[in-house]
Amino acid sequence: MPKESRSQDQFQMQNFIGGEWSAAGATLPILNPALGLTIGSLPRSGAVEIDRAVAAAKSSQPSWASLSLKERVGWLIRIAEALENNAEEFAQLESLDTGKPISLAKNMDISRAIANFRFFAEFSESFKEESFPGTTSQNLTHRSALGVVGLITPWNLPLYLLTWKIAPAILMGNAVVAKPSEMTSLTAWRFGQLLEQIAFPKGVINFVFGLGAECGDALVVHPDVRAISFTGGTKTGALVGAAAGSRFKKLSLELGGKNPIVVFDDAPPGASAQVVRSAFLNSGQICLCGSRLFVQRKGYDSFLKEMSLELARWVPADPQKTETVMGSLISKDHLAKVESYVTLSKELGGRILFGGKRPEMSGALTEGAFYLPTIVEGLSPQSRPSQEEIFGPVLVVHPFETEEEVISLANQVTYGLSASIWSADLEKAKRVAERLEAGVIWINTWLNRDLRTAFGGMKNSGVGREGGRYSLEFFSEVKNICWVSPEGAATGGVR
Ligand code: NDP
Repeated sequence: MPKESRSQDQFQMQNFIGGEWSAAGATLPILNPALGLTIGSLPRSGAVEIDRAVAAAKSSQPSWASLSLKERVGWLIRIAEALENNAEEFAQLESLDTGKPISLAKNMDISRAIANFRFFAEFSESFKEESFPGTTSQNLTHRSALGVVGLITPWNLPLYLLTWKIAPAILMGNAVVAKPSEMTSLTAWRFGQLLEQIAFPKGVINFVFGLGAECGDALVVHPDVRAISFTGGTKTGALVGAAAGSRFKKLSLELGGKNPIVVFDDAPPGASAQVVRSAFLNSGQICLCGSRLFVQRKGYDSFLKEMSLELARWVPADPQKTETVMGSLISKDHLAKVESYVTLSKELGGRILFGGKRPEMSGALTEGAFYLPTIVEGLSPQSRPSQEEIFGPVLVVHPFETEEEVISLANQVTYGLSASIWSADLEKAKRVAERLEAGVIWINTWLNRDLRTAFGGMKNSGVGREGGRYSLEFFSEVKNICWVSPEGAATGGVR
């Protein structure tokens, strides 16, 4: 990586198509949101570049699919090793591009990207074809690659989410065309360079950079793309779903959330620190972050006091320093959106218990998109700040009395992605978990992921599931093969 970290043209990205690098006509700026500076440019691609990438993927896919599973697994492991050997640099790039703390980028984003390849390589061994032996006929469920698949990912966990889709897609024999968020494409570009270095088969993984409405849409509607795996906001998901659905493409949608955190009076010691983490990690810009906190009345004041003490540690600072816990938001525009929800909260009678403003930053960070972790109370659970996804460091808190009441409150949103429950009574917590409308529920923990398990949302939080066999099933076409022995052929095996 070039040494001068403030240069406007530090990174000149190109598309990675068919194993070759190429520009598009126009470019877009790469912004460092912590410094408010342009640090390079990326191609502003459109339908032409998508068309070339799909053609490259289509021509390389049959030979990739013809490799044995073991050979493809070997490639997944080589990719994981290459990422591991360059983890520091990837963490630095992810931090520069997103404003997230470098230690978080390293310990969460990049380590998970490596784990994604290792996990699917290992998991492939337990993923077997199903057979259904019968008395006169046999059935076998066979899975084959779909062909070319399109992957579209958001800005909050760039390489983490991209590799979560790439690994199962290529494992099953597909070739991919991926469009990362235009705001955070740096690590995908560097990942392309790694693929080149390890001589990964050309054309199996292609990156086309640009805007969602331009190259993202071109990918979704392309006739040679058999499936779309999309992670992003619910509004965009609706557009992608309509365009892909009407073309009969396989579709996976991982969308937004407004996740409840339920804290009972008997929450175990240490819960407050974990709840703070679950609301403010990555400045609240993780789809799984809790953003509605329900605390049982008896312990309400003491729990919020504990949270405030813990929050004193969550000071926004230079993301490139290893000790930094909280970085900047993704952009000034997003900062304005977050601020508008805090302003609205005040107008609606909400009280700011913590934060509620930009921090005082100094030196080069004064132009950064920083915001303090913020807790608001006194709002109606039906108010917009309690109902809409803010996707920033803003937590709305409500007291509750009974188990029945909190289940009803928690479910009163259009979203259904995740929830966390904090209680020493596991029976009660499991009872509540079964009635919460969310696809991913944690009890006395948060962001605790076993990659074999189903991941995804209910209601407006998505369609389909990722993880383990769910991902491998999504990225493959299933066919049932039924046969009868030659001896039974005269009757067709039908009694
Ligand atoms: P967006 O929906 O704005 O964008 C997601 C991706 O879709 C980006 O690559 C974007 O490109 C692209 N895109 C935009 N418009 C179109 C279109 N018409 N056709 C095809 N692609 C398009 O989401 P954000 O990037 O703002 O990410 C934040 C959202 O993602 C939050 O709502 C969050 O909850 C959700 N999310 C969900 C997760 C889950 O697992 N359920 C995980 C992580 C985030 P571009 O950036 O260039 O506009």
